[in-house]
Amino acid sequence: MPLVSILNELKRAQRERYAVPCFDTFDLFSTEGMFLAAAQKAAPTIIAIYDSALNRPNARAMAAYIRTRAKEAAQPISLMLDHGSSFEQCMKAIHYGFTDVMYDGSRLPLEENIATTKAIVRVAHAMGIGVEAELGHVGSGSEYRSYGAQRKGFTDPAAVEHFVQETGVDLLAVAIGTAHGLYDGDPQIDLELLRNIRRRVDIPLVLHGGTGCSEKQFRDVIEAGISKINVATDLFVTTGKRLVEIAKTAEAPRYFDLTSKAIESFTERCGYYLDLFGASGRV
Ligand SMILES: [Zn+2]
Repeated sequence: MPLVSILNELKRAQRERYAVPCFDTFDLFSTEGMFLAAAQKAAPTIIAIYDSALNRPNARAMAAYIRTRAKEAAQPISLMLDHGSSFEQCMKAIHYGFTDVMYDGSRLPLEENIATTKAIVRVAHAMGIGVEAELGHVGSGSEYRSYGAQRKGFTDPAAVEHFVQETGVDLLAVAIGTAHGLYDGDPQIDLELLRNIRRRVDIPLVLHGGTGCSEKQFRDVIEAGISKINVATDLFVTTGKRLVEIAKTAEAPRYFDLTSKAIESFTERCGYYLDLFGASGRV
């Protein structure tokens, strides 16, 4: 059960109240850890390439590598574009063989976000590819105090049905208090807003900015209707710290010790999230 669009897995997650994590990868070591964790935990998993990484010279080869690895896996694995910045970037990802794409028009006026999302959905659906869009804007954790507390960019529940109906999108990322990267302060999540959005539409809902949320917050958002959770920063910060520690303490740190430790760290950390979100054993 190999490379798939994650839509069916997320519909099941929505019905059975767990969440499938989406891990951003930037290299082969983090990718390997993600595949090993999915195998160890018998869990469906989304491996994502970030929009800017799609412009690297190795992007097409990275996509091909992940596709091949996923085809050999016993678990459903999606290769997804994260935060696609334009129609063209989403088309490029589809051309490279991604099975799901996220288009992020959350900084645009609503009608522009709708128009571009709709155009991407039309092409993607003709090819069996799932599309995620963002309504409201999930900001950056480094600016959290200035907007998180002020609820800037939170998803307007009144716009949700219109957006989903007009675009035909499959997954919806919502802004309910989380932010990307490391938080300046503690994340405050508006569960009432999430429940309100959940009542208005029937498609799987997505939480971005998983790094820094507490285990209770994760359990609460899943209970309130989140079916996909994006985590990236924590994986890289945790692994980076572990490698620095080894480099400092080992007498003569060897390259291969560091790379195998990196894979081990990603495996362990991704496995932790698969367990926490309830995705383990769902194959
Ligand atoms: Zn995100």
